[in-house]
Amino acid sequence: MPLDSVTLSSVGVNEEEMSDYMAALGSGIGIPERHICICGHQLSRHEKWEIGFSCVVSKSWCSCTEPLAVLQPERVKPFRYSSSGYGKKHALTKGIYTLKSQGFGATWLIEINCFRCGTKNGKIYPAPIDRAGRIASESGKKNALLCFSCINEIGGAFYY
Ligand SMILES: [Zn+2]
Ligand SMILES: [Zn+2]
Ligand SMILES: [Zn+2]
Repeated sequence: MPLDSVTLSSVGVNEEEMSDYMAALGSGIGIPERHICICGHQLSRHEKWEIGFSCVVSKSWCSCTEPLAVLQPERVKPFRYSSSGYGKKHALTKGIYTLKSQGFGATWLIEINCFRCGTKNGKIYPAPIDRAGRIASESGKKNALLCFSCINEIGGAFYY
């Protein structure tokens, strides 16, 4: 009688789950591997260097140096976009949109308020921040949740 071949499902996991987990082990950050960073990508995709962090979903377009866990989704695959501005142009927004359109949910790990003035009122947007501290039209050195008046005050690229 032929014996069963070994598969990941015979040890209770699927391939996506396992590759995310292995990536998390490799990153050495020590935070749950399925959490999504404010840059819009998995925390396990960030690498720690002596000078700080970088996000390696694709080195060419995410320069996140200050990772922050903001949400835990039921599925991590949708979080693969790049940022080209704040709000709907931000990788986090695109990931959430895709997650939702595939019928999955997520829970926030942080309070939703403006990182700059602290307001919870009105719309709060994810925004990439460039080296000079202004709103970027590409991936940011860091990212923040900001209300519209703070976005206006900070200034930067508003090609919306
Ligand atoms: Zn990040
Ligand atoms: Zn990133
Ligand atoms: Zn604000």
